[in-house]
Amino acid sequence: MGGVQVKRHTKGKRNRRRSHLALKKTFLAICQKCDREVLPHRVCAHCGFYDGKEVIDVMAKLTKKEKKRREKEEEAEQKARGSELNPEKLSKKT
Ligand SMILES: [Zn+2]
Repeated sequence: MGGVQVKRHTKGKRNRRRSHLALKKTFLAICQKCDREVLPHRVCAHCGFYDGKEVIDVMAKLTKKEKKRREKEEEAEQKARGSELNPEKLSKKT
């Protein structure tokens, strides 16, 4: 049998117990190659790079449709990166 409640706990008691239950935001590193958020010490799922080297050939695993979409995305990103130097992104890298 589980424990049987003998006395009602106050709101304060309940709230103190729950004060430790909040979820913390997971820490995310930023991929050096594609500037996306990645789990630290993990290969980037988007570009397959880790520590400046290509570890997984991501494009080989994609279907034709996905490949086309990915190539378009990368072109757009390169254009955006070339035209505007975002001070926020620069500060994150250093
Ligand atoms: Zn990446």
